[in-house]
Amino acid sequence: MSLQEFNLDYFSLKGKTAIITGGNTGLGQAYTIALAKAGANVFVVTHGTNWEETKELLSGAEGSSEFYQADLSDREQIKKVVPACVGKFGTVDILVNNAGTIRRNPLLEYKDEDWDDVMALNLDAVYFLSQAAAKVMAEKRSGKIINIASMLSFQGGKFIPPYTSSKHAVAGLTKSFANELAEHNIQVNAIAPGYFATKNTAPIRSDEKRNAEILSRIPAGYWADPSDLMGTVVYLASKASDYMNGHVLAVDGGWLAR
Ligand code: NAD
Repeated sequence: MSLQEFNLDYFSLKGKTAIITGGNTGLGQAYTIALAKAGANVFVVTHGTNWEETKELLSGAEGSSEFYQADLSDREQIKKVVPACVGKFGTVDILVNNAGTIRRNPLLEYKDEDWDDVMALNLDAVYFLSQAAAKVMAEKRSGKIINIASMLSFQGGKFIPPYTSSKHAVAGLTKSFANELAEHNIQVNAIAPGYFATKNTAPIRSDEKRNAEILSRIPAGYWADPSDLMGTVVYLASKASDYMNGHVLAVDGGWLAR
């Protein structure tokens, strides 16, 4: 690209198709709306069928949408996601691996099934979906995979051993996929959100002491809103980020800089 060629169309997703897992709630809903407003068709993979609010928020967006129910802790169901998106929109250009879960308990009491459930969704689903999407993207030599990491991709935390382990692994998987897929013109990056006000973080926000501790450590001084991630996901999904690969991008109000 010459310097003169650059314009804001480099951020446009017009004509692209994006899969967003868990795209009907919390941060995932913000990614869905942002990508659709930037022009992409969105294939929203959800655990349940509470689609109404997101459908309403999507009205007026440039891209069209399809909602698809799947339990992503089930490998058989994971395998059907990419073919279902290709069946609807003909292809997949962007995959946002957003669905995730967290279970809090002291380590010495941590239950085996909590470990298994968190790892299945936060790590296994990311691997299997990314591999399936990458096969379609490699074929056409173009694609973007955006994983959702966390501050717990860098730090240890407490009471959440599989969450921390899975989010560290998501950072590793991002780099490993990026290295192999770059030659196919597929860029793989991750967003590491800081502290956002969603259902996931409701228990710590309602704990007065913990809430105050967290707020005092965030240079920006407030819990972020899901909309604070909309520009980032569009950037990572667009041509504007074509030379960015294997990066874990923190959007954290300065948390990691402390
Ligand atoms: P959320 O609970 O609103 O979103 C989780 C999504 O995953 C939901 O849409 C849920 O339906 C879906 N999901 C759960 N189990 C599923 C299953 N078995 N199959 C398919 N989908 C399933 O919480 P959120 O805060 O929006 O979290 C979204 C992502 O962002 C997660 O990966 C989370 O770890 C990450 N994250 C959140 C924060 C934060 O501050 N909220 C910070 C860092 C990272």
